[in-house]
Amino acid sequence: MTSKVITPEVLIVGAGIAGTPLALNLHKKGIDVLLVDRTMTCRRVFKAEYMQPGPLNFLRKNGFSSIFKSPHFSSIHNLHFRDLGENNQDVIGEISMHYPHGQHAVTFAHDVLVESLRHVARKELKNRLVLGVNLHPTNISDPSFHERPEFEFALPNMGSVKIRPRWVVGADGRHSTVREWMKGPKAPKNLRVIWGAKSELIIGAEIAAPPPTKHTYQVVRSFNNGTLFAFNLPGVGQRLYFSAPEGTVKKDWQNAIQRILKDFRKFHDIGPLDTHAPIVGCPAFQTWLGPATRGRFVLCGDAVGVTTPYGGQGISVALEHVSHLIQNFEWRAQSQLISGLTRREYALMAESTHSRLDIINWSLYFLFFARNPISKLITQHVLNSWQQNPSLPAHVMSLFGGLTKEHPSISEVFDIWGLQKGRRAKLLSLLGPAMKRQISRIESNI
Ligand SMILES: Cc1cc2nc3c(=O)[nH]c(=O)nc-3n(C[C@H](O)[C@H](O)[C@H](O)COP(=O)(O)OP(=O)(O)OC[C@H]3O[C@@H](n4cnc5c(N)ncnc54)[C@H](O)[C@@H]3O)c2cc1C
Repeated sequence: MTSKVITPEVLIVGAGIAGTPLALNLHKKGIDVLLVDRTMTCRRVFKAEYMQPGPLNFLRKNGFSSIFKSPHFSSIHNLHFRDLGENNQDVIGEISMHYPHGQHAVTFAHDVLVESLRHVARKELKNRLVLGVNLHPTNISDPSFHERPEFEFALPNMGSVKIRPRWVVGADGRHSTVREWMKGPKAPKNLRVIWGAKSELIIGAEIAAPPPTKHTYQVVRSFNNGTLFAFNLPGVGQRLYFSAPEGTVKKDWQNAIQRILKDFRKFHDIGPLDTHAPIVGCPAFQTWLGPATRGRFVLCGDAVGVTTPYGGQGISVALEHVSHLIQNFEWRAQSQLISGLTRREYALMAESTHSRLDIINWSLYFLFFARNPISKLITQHVLNSWQQNPSLPAHVMSLFGGLTKEHPSISEVFDIWGLQKGRRAKLLSLLGPAMKRQISRIESNI
């Protein structure tokens, strides 16, 4: 069988949340793209089920608005946080935060989102979307590989297809093969969150019973046991994520989680616990895996920086990369000089997006996850002051919602949590060494 040769301007590897919107938008701008994915269909997995308003607006404006009219997507308007006392017997504080007027987040099963994106894109991309193929570089040992890469894949009954792209975008997720070809770092296979004083394990579970409040993202923190996150998952019931000190769930963790969830039922009606519900350990760590560019190769989304599953930040950052890449490819000029400049501009942007997210996730951590003494001070401050100053929670929701692209500093976060100047020394004295290292790392990235 003879092989066919195609020469797209941009080869996008990975038809996921980042790759699919990127391909459709470049195609609409008249740029010749080829989008490939090794999967034929997306599996049902515990991954990205909560989309903040910022990325939702982006997808709506960029050709995918029809998706969100389906009953498989449900809106979330506010976030409700409950703080339990030391003994888990009382609610010692409650905070409700609302997205700014007219804005909301959405929840969905991960595979439903990916399949819907692919469905919309396929109508326009036609044979420029190829699923279920394994791409092989054919000249990886050549010194010129990163400037003039060539690939091949086989299609059933059609022989092999050779690809000579001008650009290659790796949108192929955490364990990116494109990053390997670029000789970038390997992603850690971590299962634990080692932020703060304690090492925590995140567990995901599905509960068949519908949530008591459909449009609210519920968070219940107990100082001794862990933090429960629960939200409506259309077509399923509820998705739960549970973050607990590692020691409490290390052995026999499935039963331990069931016991802990039962304790929480007093404060949050999660409906009957289905013992057959799938419960999985969830990898969670915020890790930069750049550089984002090398020669003709560019990385975006999880391929260049893994986010934690907290607060729906993964999709936000992936689509921020996509929106910059759309601009960069639009500006592409034939001159090597301009290509080099836009590449550098993108690489810097991707890194700064990641460090911005680090700050946002870190501040979220303090608000909802931490079980060290300092988080009690923060909760106290939040409870005392936020009701008097509604602009503060609105600002925080805008940051988490991806509605503002501000890059807050650690000091600004301290101000928001009420830990200004004089109290900062006290804060640092209360923190464990892991959290101190985390702060220095974030500060050195700003
Ligand atoms: C448990 C969990 C929960 C999360 N919850 C949320 C959440 O609620 N909200 C949120 O915003 N973020 C969440 N995240 C993060 C979010 O899932 C990611 O940030 C997001 O999926 C990144 O999108 P992506 O397109 O970069 O990568 P992916 O979604 O990983 O997509 C990569 C695509 O590339 C394909 N691929 C991989 N290798 C190859 C290859 N060699 N060749 C061809 N194709 C390939 C894959 O099949 C896939 O289609 C969560 C993460 C986890 C682990």
